[in-house]
Amino acid sequence: MDGQWILIRSQLFKTMAILPISIYPDSILLKKAKKIKDPKSQEIQELILNMLETMKSSDGLGLAAPQVGKSLRLCVISFEGKTHILINPKVSSKSWKKVTGEEGCLSFPGVFLPIKRHKRVSVKAQDRNGDKLVIKADGMLSRILQHEIDHLEGIPFIKRMAKIKKSKDNEKIQWKKAL
Ligand SMILES: [Zn+2]
Repeated sequence: MDGQWILIRSQLFKTMAILPISIYPDSILLKKAKKIKDPKSQEIQELILNMLETMKSSDGLGLAAPQVGKSLRLCVISFEGKTHILINPKVSSKSWKKVTGEEGCLSFPGVFLPIKRHKRVSVKAQDRNGDKLVIKADGMLSRILQHEIDHLEGIPFIKRMAKIKKSKDNEKIQWKKAL
């Protein structure tokens, strides 16, 4: 993690580093994460860059701060070529309908389980500048958001395991990447 120092927008940052991932049953994964008061602080900006780098190097679809040893309400998502940085995210509405799909988690290497999630969610959060944002998501992005926000509540995905049954609601997609 001894990166060189670089200058971005008049602020000094260490070059991005790949952070070690907390593996279950590390207690940080079971703890409710703390709200971020100053999204623009150097500590948070540096953590965002390092989490993006860590997610990319792990080939993950999402990563929450507790997974890299920081009990803070921050997660990053990389889905369909788009990167989402969510600070203090909160599910503001959710569909009644739930769907079961296979999920993995970077904190549970090699474990893929059927998990039941709300089909659609709206999430309110702050972006990396501290500005408010809203994401309305369906399908896989909805699933990823719920998985990451659960991490901030200290809820590992195994707690959401669905009963295994054949249902027409089951998502056809098999999850190849973890969150
Ligand atoms: Zn996860």
